[in-house]
Amino acid sequence: MDKITRLISSTDHHDRIGGKAIRMVNPPVSAGSTVLFENYRDFALAGTGEYPGVSYGTDRLSAQRCLEEALAELEGGQLCRVFQSGISAITHTLQACLSSGDHLLICENVYGPTARFCREVLPRFNIETDFVPAAIGADIETFIRPRTRLIFLESPGSNTFEIQDVPAITAIARKRDLITVIDNTWATPLYFQPLTLGVDLSIQSLTKYISGHSDLLLGAVSVNERCAHLLTDYYRTLELFVSPQDAYLALRSLKTLEVRLQRHEESALEIAHWLERRADIDQVLHPALPKHPQHALWQRDFRGSSGLFAFTFRQDYPEEKIATFIDTLELFGLGYSWGGFKSLVTVGRYERRQGGRPGQLVVRLSIGLEKPADLISDLRRGLAVLG
Ligand SMILES: *Cc1c(COP(=O)(O)O)cnc(C)c1O
Repeated sequence: MDKITRLISSTDHHDRIGGKAIRMVNPPVSAGSTVLFENYRDFALAGTGEYPGVSYGTDRLSAQRCLEEALAELEGGQLCRVFQSGISAITHTLQACLSSGDHLLICENVYGPTARFCREVLPRFNIETDFVPAAIGADIETFIRPRTRLIFLESPGSNTFEIQDVPAITAIARKRDLITVIDNTWATPLYFQPLTLGVDLSIQSLTKYISGHSDLLLGAVSVNERCAHLLTDYYRTLELFVSPQDAYLALRSLKTLEVRLQRHEESALEIAHWLERRADIDQVLHPALPKHPQHALWQRDFRGSSGLFAFTFRQDYPEEKIATFIDTLELFGLGYSWGGFKSLVTVGRYERRQGGRPGQLVVRLSIGLEKPADLISDLRRGLAVLG
């Protein structure tokens, strides 16, 4: 049976009233800290950590557990844990896997706050980071040091869209007994399955496509058998948890992820092709376009593309012109995050060590669920002001 069919159909949640089961297609949202034990024996077992049931609110109640199970299944993982946000999932994963004296390698195209955590917080715990080129593959071997413990990937990078050769990297990591982690937010587990390619931990910002409605912040980590204990022991020790209401909302949206994502994909490709044909556009940074430098890797490893991509201009326009372009757009909201129903735009710049011209402007679009023809009209009007 297809995973999507199982996600949609394996939902029969019971409560009992009047001796009859109330069969719901959604899990109950039980809120609470205290969970009452049946008897002293169970209470004593909980004290030794051997109680199989739930002993406290932080143990994850029905809604959280249903979400975790659904995500683990989609990612092809052994299990999953849910965190307060995507960045919380990332920083906790790094802390769960690393110790004082360790060294990690991280791709230079990662989500900004991920890089900031490695630069500003990890050194205080004597953990050192080296940034490696965004389009790295087997050449990662040259960066490995004796103290290297972990490799962190983001493919494609969510600002400049380089793709890494994940199987080549995980083959080397296995040989050297290193942990590999990937931020899989762009593709979602529907379009990329890093755990099947040898990655140990796959992270999602559920805030993006999985929640899909810009009304929720959550993150998730799915893990293979090899690293499952690292994650669960850490999660339990820190008594991390998310609210049942948030978990419920994420699970609700997860059921419609496939249809939403198909629409994001089609619309984004239509708009990317339209931009590619314009004389004022330099590059369209979208891995599903044949001109993308790592298109062959994308074709080999991914099942589809999502709705987030970027483009650069041939000319360096003055800041005021860019401001007019952005402020002229009516359908594209100017704001962070992505993967929701509404189209968004943000503007960044290539850093020196990334591709493109240093300082070159990168306009990033999150294509929502509006009709693509209307989005194209909006962009056409906006671009016209650049003259
Ligand atoms: C947004 C984002 C995150 C962080 O997710 P939050 O839920 O907003 O904390 C992590 N990685 C990528 C690639 C993102 O785009």
